[in-house]
Amino acid sequence: MKQSIKSRHDLDAFSKGILSGDRIVLGQAITMIESNLESDQKFASLLLERVLPSTGNALRIGITGVPGVGKSTFIETFGKSLINKGKKPAVLTVDPSSPITKGSILGDKTRMDGLSKDPSAFVRPTPSSSAIGGVANKTREAMLLCEAAGYDVIIIETVGVGQSEFAVRNMVDFFLLLILAGAGDELQGIKKGIMEIADVVVITKADGANEKNALEAQGMYQQALHLFSAPTSGWQPTVLTSSAVTGNGIEEVWTKIVKYTEHVKANGFFQKNRSAQNVSWFKDYFALLLKADLQKYKSLKSVQKNLEHAVSNLSITSQAAAEKLLDAYHDVLRSNKS
Ligand code: GDP
Repeated sequence: MKQSIKSRHDLDAFSKGILSGDRIVLGQAITMIESNLESDQKFASLLLERVLPSTGNALRIGITGVPGVGKSTFIETFGKSLINKGKKPAVLTVDPSSPITKGSILGDKTRMDGLSKDPSAFVRPTPSSSAIGGVANKTREAMLLCEAAGYDVIIIETVGVGQSEFAVRNMVDFFLLLILAGAGDELQGIKKGIMEIADVVVITKADGANEKNALEAQGMYQQALHLFSAPTSGWQPTVLTSSAVTGNGIEEVWTKIVKYTEHVKANGFFQKNRSAQNVSWFKDYFALLLKADLQKYKSLKSVQKNLEHAVSNLSITSQAAAEKLLDAYHDVLRSNKS
């Protein structure tokens, strides 16, 4: 068993550990990413920079669906089938519930037990709700570390109940929507926006008495997908059925993902999409840094409070207040006082 690193900020040891695929070091590095200490954040940033040349080689898959649809059971079965093909899957989660309820819709502890124990896989629970810079950002950074550690299929799971699925869509190559076949009105439970960002829709739990419903739902969703305008990837999204219990359909999902990847690599969309994602991450980070920098200056806090008060009692417009705060920020930078 490999040793965990003793010195907290040993860049050489961390990068060596990650690049050699040491799961303990990878876990420690992700903890560093999630840390709210400024020194840890700086270290994590240096570490990411160091391992960056070894990132980008994995296939990044996003999976979403409402609670209970069967995400973790699907990922467990799907992940094992990937391992049987000689792949090394890493599973990360973005749980939108955590900042609000301090709980977790995804309930990580008991999930994907078999996969977590497999030496070829890496399963990381949701970052803590208090993570500075947003849970999605942390997941993005963790994904890069997993890639540097040699994981070649990154699965990012999220619950389709908020904005998190759009954040995840913006960090993956392929997006999978899991849907339950219900009795009638199927389409109403799913937000149209989510259907539109899916590359493949899978009707889950297609086994036993539910198989017939699943096949009916498949036809219905396939028709519904044709109503949307053609995606920029040039790929026509399709609907499949699967059962994580019998294993039926799981192989077909992977075959479809491989087909998709070939398609978007051939038409240039794959690279174009990744480049656009990188630019969008850069912009996100810059906005975050600016926000954090603004909060460093104590003198601005009272200015901001006064402006908030003025905005709330309508004595100034929101736009004018924002401009005033920006002016105050510029003043503070010029005089360099804190
Ligand atoms: P999640 O909340 O989306 O992660 O859903 P889970 O994976 O925890 O599954 C919710 C419930 O559905 C559990 O009781 C699972 O055992 C069950 N389940 C998941 N996949 C299947 C499946 O393919 N067939 C059947 N019959 N049950 C399933």
